[in-house]
Amino acid sequence: MKRYLEKRANPKLLSVVIPCFNEEKVLPFLQSRIINVLESFRLKFELILVNDGSSDRTIFQLVEWAEKDARVKIISLSRNFGHQIAVTAGMDYASGDAVVIMDADLQDPPEVIGKMLEKYKEGYDVVYGQRLARSGESFFKKVTAWAFYRLMKILVHRDLPLDSGDFRLISRRCLIELNRLRENHRFLRGMNAWIGFPQTPVFYNRDPRVAGETKYPLRKMLKLAMNAAVSFSPLPLRFSLALGIFVAMLGFIVGAYALFRAFQHFILELPIVYNPGWATIVTLICLIGGSILISIGILGEYVARIFEESKGRPLYVIEFIKTKGKKKIEREILNHSEEYLKKSRFGF
Ligand code: UDP
Ligand code: MG
Repeated sequence: MKRYLEKRANPKLLSVVIPCFNEEKVLPFLQSRIINVLESFRLKFELILVNDGSSDRTIFQLVEWAEKDARVKIISLSRNFGHQIAVTAGMDYASGDAVVIMDADLQDPPEVIGKMLEKYKEGYDVVYGQRLARSGESFFKKVTAWAFYRLMKILVHRDLPLDSGDFRLISRRCLIELNRLRENHRFLRGMNAWIGFPQTPVFYNRDPRVAGETKYPLRKMLKLAMNAAVSFSPLPLRFSLALGIFVAMLGFIVGAYALFRAFQHFILELPIVYNPGWATIVTLICLIGGSILISIGILGEYVARIFEESKGRPLYVIEFIKTKGKKKIEREILNHSEEYLKKSRFGF
């Protein structure tokens, strides 16, 4: 697809959203590095740090930071809502012309934001970081991540970039559209691909975590993969239909064979064969029973999602917001109201 890109100036305000979950070991590193890098761009910026229900000293460090520096804003969620939701909360309150989403652990080097800003000025609305190498991660993590991205491309969206996480810069207009998607089970990269504004990668080497350990164990990765697959595509449902058809056809063939065996003495005038047939029956029961259960399970996943969405709950609950001087971030807590959408559509 050929795109017409309109050149832009530097953003008047750059927002950087960083979710933090039990990052007490990482925050001292983050503080010094990110501020230095952001100051080197010579533009106005705000840092929105979302405390995702940390159980260590993270929130104390964050509040201390916000009290020292007026550019730092803290949103503290009432419990752990998960990475994707924490990022969403940060994006809801970001008021910059460009918004960067990055991890707290400095695996996404903040220096790359400079390259992202260049692309932003060329006119791109989404500039995502694409990883060249992953150092300091286990072989297992590398393999699962590799498989994850390939599978997601099939299931979620054909425009979903490979080997890129949530580290990205998005323009104001893209953010506004993204904030309108209020689905409960979120896969931000997929949602971003769906929105479809001009997107381009910047390449970078993914560093090891500066401190602490990953908050994305296999269990959470699988959950994210499941969310991505089931929330974005009816493909798993089609798979269960295909499985059903396959098993039914198999049953038909075996059934025809069984009938033939039962009546063969009439047709071929052979002696009656007493076929115990036990193995056949057990195999068929397992096969059919198993595939029915798989299909119901997949169906159940979708029904559960319909159930979740139909409750219409807010995506997260904020315990408090901390910025220097002011009690609240400039905007009111209006995320879900019409007024918020109207306001954000016409700029602030
Ligand atoms: N994170 C979060 N809530 C969670 C899990 C993670 O806010 O429930 C944050 C975490 O603090 C970090 C980012 O999401 O800033 C990415 O997590 P992590 O580095 O542990 O994931 P990995 O890089 O290992 O995939
Ligand atoms: Mg990390």
